[in-house]
Amino acid sequence: MKNPYSTLGVQNGASESEIKKAFRDLSKKYHPDKKGGSQEKFVEISEAYSILSDPEKKGMFDRFGTIKPGSLNFDFNDIFADIGNISEFRRRSSTRYGKRKKMVPSDIRIKFRINLPDSVFGGSFKQKINRMIACEDCKSVGELVDGQKECVYCSGRGKMIFRQTPSIVFESVCSKCSGTGLLTSRCETCLGKCFLQKNETVEAKLPKNLKNGSILKIEKKGNVNYTDNEETHSGSCYFLIDFPGKEDGIEKEEANLKTAIEVELSDIFEESQVEIDVFKRKKIKFKLQHDKKISEKYILSPDFLEGNYFEIKVTPIISKNKLSEESRLDIAKCLRKNIV
Ligand SMILES: [Zn+2]
Ligand SMILES: [Zn+2]
Repeated sequence: MKNPYSTLGVQNGASESEIKKAFRDLSKKYHPDKKGGSQEKFVEISEAYSILSDPEKKGMFDRFGTIKPGSLNFDFNDIFADIGNISEFRRRSSTRYGKRKKMVPSDIRIKFRINLPDSVFGGSFKQKINRMIACEDCKSVGELVDGQKECVYCSGRGKMIFRQTPSIVFESVCSKCSGTGLLTSRCETCLGKCFLQKNETVEAKLPKNLKNGSILKIEKKGNVNYTDNEETHSGSCYFLIDFPGKEDGIEKEEANLKTAIEVELSDIFEESQVEIDVFKRKKIKFKLQHDKKISEKYILSPDFLEGNYFEIKVTPIISKNKLSEESRLDIAKCLRKNIV
């Protein structure tokens, strides 16, 4: 067998990148589809590269100067995938009888963080999204068929068969027509990408009393694919809502709120009214009860919570400067009397 290093024009023991570069240059030069190309030479360099790009085969050649007979089968698609995207060798998913449409997941899922007040009172919602819209011109195939002209490269067979010797046959999907057997050209609308990107701003109303992890679904704002019967289908855009568990001294658990306040002991005895400012958007008022145990919480159900509750822990305090020594002892005496 020929020395694969000299076939690729590199020195024995050349590095992986030198080998790759040499193969890339030579395969462009000798591609049978090109002017001055040569099928024979093309097969030869592909074969050399299939040995040198495979550590096992390369190792064998380096040691013994040859490789095991019969281990020379390789797939053209694999070696071209290996050297990157050369336009002549674009890899496409395709079938013999027609090109497969490229598909993307139809739904878009985005994590979306809102603030705690908005999770309680609702709000407006605006977010930029990036949608993939199936190209109408090529119906998400990325290529257009030039009439019904037969691919000259594979004579309409859709496959390339290289017979090196009676026992060594290389077969690959025709890279020119991607296996359809018809002449094609790249779709210039999507530049062969099958989809067009569309940046869009979606707007929606945030419902009230959201729980963490709620999902907001906006229909028809997902990616657009072509279905097999040539219709377009648009998925949905899902926003996974997330918000901080505490803000402004108020905590949220499920859809319930919780806070803790301190009040003067005298206000408890007088059963004063207390006002709580909920995120500066709503105020709630309630009356302190003198006969409530200190550990017992106040449970309110303001309208805006729609059936959920607001729990308030009240801690009585006595501001130092408000109490004389005499009153302090008096209070202590009274409290003891009541406890006993
Ligand atoms: Zn297109
Ligand atoms: Zn072809």
